[in-house]
Amino acid sequence: MLRSAWSIRRLVAHGQLGKRSIHAKTTPFPEKLAFAFDIDGVLKQGHHNVLPQAKRVLRLLSGADGRLPKPIPFLLITNGGGIPDEQRRAVLSEELGVELTENQLVQSHTPIKQYVDKYRDKPVLVIGGKGEDCRRVAESYGLQHSYIPQDVIAWNPSIWDRTTLTQEEKDFARPTDFSKVAFSAAIVMHDTDDWGRDITLILDLLSSDKGVLGTRREGHNRADMRGDVELLLSNADLEWRSDWPIPRLGQGAFRLSLESVYKATTGLDLPYVQFGKPFKATYDFSELMLRRYLKQVGRDPNGQLNVYMVGDNPLSDIDGANRHGWSSILVRTGVFHDTHGEKPTHKPTVICDDVEKGVEWAIEEELRKGNL
Ligand SMILES: [Mg+2]
Repeated sequence: MLRSAWSIRRLVAHGQLGKRSIHAKTTPFPEKLAFAFDIDGVLKQGHHNVLPQAKRVLRLLSGADGRLPKPIPFLLITNGGGIPDEQRRAVLSEELGVELTENQLVQSHTPIKQYVDKYRDKPVLVIGGKGEDCRRVAESYGLQHSYIPQDVIAWNPSIWDRTTLTQEEKDFARPTDFSKVAFSAAIVMHDTDDWGRDITLILDLLSSDKGVLGTRREGHNRADMRGDVELLLSNADLEWRSDWPIPRLGQGAFRLSLESVYKATTGLDLPYVQFGKPFKATYDFSELMLRRYLKQVGRDPNGQLNVYMVGDNPLSDIDGANRHGWSSILVRTGVFHDTHGEKPTHKPTVICDDVEKGVEWAIEEELRKGNL
């Protein structure tokens, strides 16, 4: 048993990859094991630098290098987004050197896909992202009447006259008579490049009569008179790292501003549904995806899953995993450093140098516990 366990462990031990193969009949296999990886700071450092450890680990787990008797399920969960899942998946597959399937990538807005059945045939306002990219995301999720702020401004520029549409925006805008459109939801899918415009439009919709722009319903400032428009947000990160040395404000900061203006104008707390790490909806959805992946590779999708989240951010990755009953592995290749003895804001199950060390630890842990 120990010798067999050692052989699978050696597969992922640093420097040992490529030197061993294991045999299904003689080696205990961690049947319940599954992984969820954050991307930035775990698999990648910066926009284009994929860590070599990450490539080795993903090739092993996916079965691409042929050394596991069956794949160990894993997926990637990122608070990034703004482009359709298929497009992001193609780019990541290329960069990481493994073919990711549709059940292996969760962007901040991907869980919304499960949520949108009630809006499939209804108008929604999609906020954030570059150009009309997020409209394309929404349409890829089956939302057939997705509008963006530029459509509204092209219809009637006086609704927000602080900015003028560029020629490019005029070209992709789909002006409609919005006095006859009843919106059901406002969906923030990514960081927005015009907070003033987007806060204004969201406030208009939340206070509207049946979701029609330019109307205001009786009692819009009463807590017992809920409106007809639901607000969904895909990511709550206050800050994110660009190429600038100091963190930039993210969608979480946009929501705080929106909450504050909504409170000041109506006296009410902003009603909203939040997706993204560390929120429950994202972890529930990810677990569903892991089970679909198991089914896809011919393994039992209904058994117990021991999921290990590997992340670099205690506030999102680790907090979410802990709250969801997953094990959490905090790595030192991203935003978290403990060179001066710093303690993470949310305590992980273990701290490891990098993703490969983390995966090795998890496999050992499952074998040690006898979760076979
Ligand atoms: Mg990260």
